[in-house]
Amino acid sequence: MKIKMVDLKLQYDKIKEELDASMQEVIDSTSFINGPMVSKFADNLSEYIGCENIVTCANGTDALQIALMALDLKAGDEVIVPDFTYVASAEVIALLGLKPVFVDCRSDSFNIDIDSLRSAITYKTKAIVVVHLYGQCADMESILTIAKESGLFLIEDTAQAIGADFIFSNGSKAKAGTMGDIGTTSFFPSKNLGCYGDGGALFVNDKNLANKVKMIANHGQSVKYKHDIIGCNSRLDSLQAAVLNVKLKYLNDYIEARQSVADFYDKSLRDIYSIITPVNLRFSTHVYHQYTIKVLNGLRDDLKLFLSEKGIPSMVYYPIPLHRQLAFKDCKFENVNNSEDLSKEVLSLPIHTEMNEEQLNFICSAIHEFFERY
Ligand SMILES: *Cc1c(COP(=O)(O)O)cnc(C)c1O
Repeated sequence: MKIKMVDLKLQYDKIKEELDASMQEVIDSTSFINGPMVSKFADNLSEYIGCENIVTCANGTDALQIALMALDLKAGDEVIVPDFTYVASAEVIALLGLKPVFVDCRSDSFNIDIDSLRSAITYKTKAIVVVHLYGQCADMESILTIAKESGLFLIEDTAQAIGADFIFSNGSKAKAGTMGDIGTTSFFPSKNLGCYGDGGALFVNDKNLANKVKMIANHGQSVKYKHDIIGCNSRLDSLQAAVLNVKLKYLNDYIEARQSVADFYDKSLRDIYSIITPVNLRFSTHVYHQYTIKVLNGLRDDLKLFLSEKGIPSMVYYPIPLHRQLAFKDCKFENVNNSEDLSKEVLSLPIHTEMNEEQLNFICSAIHEFFERY
């Protein structure tokens, strides 16, 4: 049986005609750069996300960089970021001459730990980059309160959680990425809303800040050849927008398909003593960019090997916490015990929009077979 972490070919086959027509439209128009397809996609995304101002850009890492550039921070200012995340969230902080400060994550949700965040704040702290890891929102209600109290900018890295809902204690809902000053996302092919190359976007609530973000992504200009601030060149390709514009219509279906895969895993794996299945938080829906279990008792790598021998892929996101990366060897970090533990325990199982029960049964039986030995 052929099992992949993601299956983009089968997904494409189902909507091939629509996608091909959309891409052909761009080619026929030859509007390859910032054409009407890009603004059409931005408008549709704006409606889906519930945020007025969408600025598209070249990828999710650029989106984070542009977000930080728009906040007028000064060299040496500290920016708090979780220790347990993809490197992009922290790399852009250092790249801009700012100081990443790594804080711990929660052992249950994998997202930023509120106490660790609080204790990392100093007079030098100017911003927080929060990451909604694996598809579930961090505790935004607490984080928004802290950001407000301490006068900190808040950037939400929504690369893994596009479409997830945060549920406030008064019952109101907001999409991931729309609650802080700026939300960023990535359309990398394997992301929940992925294109056929690179792509990214920023969600900005404040109109003036949005204009600045837009200028930065476009060489610091709002009028051609008039450069008011230092910017960069970061554009969403029109062909990628053509793909995204079609796939956005199916995003909720894709999320539901992922949720049923997760449901299947939950039911099948929940009674295995050494496995902890993902938590379902009361304050966030889960869009399952990853289905990530914790494997206890030091068995993670053995299980991974056992599965791979049966042709079942699995991945470790992330094997080395950021504070231990050479690139960040001089950076400050809080007590990051959970992050350390998780790097040894997490295992992400195959999850995508095209998985069937036969594949899921095969994977789960293999996992049960492995644990029968212990
Ligand atoms: C994928 C990802 C990014 C970077 O996106 P690119 O489009 O690859 O630059 C940033 N942050 C997180 C959490 C991601 O998962």
